[in-house]
Amino acid sequence: MINQEKIQNILSRYGRADSVQVRETLAKSRKLAGLAMEEIAILSSVSDPELLAELFDAARWVKEQIYGRRLVLFAPLYISNLCANECLYCAFRARNTTLKRRALRQDEIALEVQNLIEQGHKRVLLVAGESYPQEGFDYVLKSIDTIYSMQSGNGQIRRINVNVAPLTIEEFRKLKATGIGTYQLFQETYHRQTYDKVHLSGPKRDYTWRITAMDRAMEAGIDDVGIGVLFGLFDWRFEMLALMQHIRYLEERFGVGPHTISVPRLEPATGSDLACHPPQPVDDVDFRKIVAILRLAVPYTGIIMSTRETPKMRRETFALGVSQISAGSRTNPGGYSEGQDQEDTAQFSLGDHRRLDEVIRDVAALGYIPSFCTGCYRLGRTGRDFMDLAKPGLIKEHCDPNALSTFLEYLLDYAAPQTNAIGMELIDTTLNQMDSAPRDRARSMLEQVQGGKRDVFC
Ligand code: SAM
Ligand code: SF4
Repeated sequence: MINQEKIQNILSRYGRADSVQVRETLAKSRKLAGLAMEEIAILSSVSDPELLAELFDAARWVKEQIYGRRLVLFAPLYISNLCANECLYCAFRARNTTLKRRALRQDEIALEVQNLIEQGHKRVLLVAGESYPQEGFDYVLKSIDTIYSMQSGNGQIRRINVNVAPLTIEEFRKLKATGIGTYQLFQETYHRQTYDKVHLSGPKRDYTWRITAMDRAMEAGIDDVGIGVLFGLFDWRFEMLALMQHIRYLEERFGVGPHTISVPRLEPATGSDLACHPPQPVDDVDFRKIVAILRLAVPYTGIIMSTRETPKMRRETFALGVSQISAGSRTNPGGYSEGQDQEDTAQFSLGDHRRLDEVIRDVAALGYIPSFCTGCYRLGRTGRDFMDLAKPGLIKEHCDPNALSTFLEYLLDYAAPQTNAIGMELIDTTLNQMDSAPRDRARSMLEQVQGGKRDVFC
């Protein structure tokens, strides 16, 4: 799946490109057909400020063409920090004795979910370390049932994505049967020698078991999968090409690539020297380049930006290609119902501590439409079906009205008055800019929401 020698050869051949090669590649990227590995290497080498500005312009243009101004919002839900692995960068690692261990009981998970629903969230990403309480993997399945069963006021969680350790095909089948959205798993680093150095013990030491997880997930029928790299462990240029090899492999084998790519950067974590001193840190300029190049390389794959990053960096990357963001996050089990992020139970430190409503106000003031849409997966538009709609641009006909109707739900049920004012104005402006067919559909959906109906989607 990953050919390291090929990656190194491409990087040494194309890693010092001239302006003609860069501009040809940027022109090609505007055809919205993605990029080859050589072209990604060419763009990775850009450092001249003028060319960098052209790279960012191309990314902005592609993002606008495919995603318009929508940004999907979600919150991570950490159910447990028990872990059998020794990943040197993570506070949950098994030998970190400074961490207080905790696996939430089902009633505690319900409290967390109630809190998230009452903030206005509709989508959560369930996260856990790789060790479960007595009931084993059933703990995850039960937790998913608990989350979906909760209702508070007008709200409920309508889509659960899951980021847990690699599973067997049988376990993936059970996971699929609970009705999850995307299964996410990050390879952390595709560079085998680095992988071995930072994963000292536990099941995660097995690079192959991890990299083949998406194969098993897809074989089990989960066709929305999310991949990612933990940037800061190894050379980001290498990781980008390896990520592309993984994507092309999945496309060839299953007819569809990943639904999302995550771009976590190493953040300080208690009890981890490595997290505080990343071996190959990615600076802010390179980080923006990573997002922009991914947007051009795989235009139809969502890019997720977490609250690891600061509000400023998050704002900058929205324009460059990000399509989903977390907001109001806590990385400690119990963090939503019990107050502040707590260092002695959290996974890593956050860069953005704002509440959901503040993030929404900020995003809306910038002209982006916050979306809580869960329409596609609930109507079975996943995997290849989603891509078949996305590629000819048809998905916009659904996404824009769904974004507006879920945003209006948020404004009516949860927003502070100032957020409501900014949001209502944004909905009006957006409607006026839409083509007539999606606009009519959006108007009728918005009227239903205004009339008291909830969960209106197309
Ligand atoms: N335990 C499972 C695993 O490792 O795949 C799933 C969840 S793990 C809690 C989620 C992700 O957090 C990891 O895949 C890793 O990329 C990220 N992470 C761990 N330590 C981090 C740190 N110090 N800074 C930023 N991200 C980190
Ligand atoms: Fe455990 Fe995941 Fe943290 Fe590794 S990254 S120590 S597997 S929680």
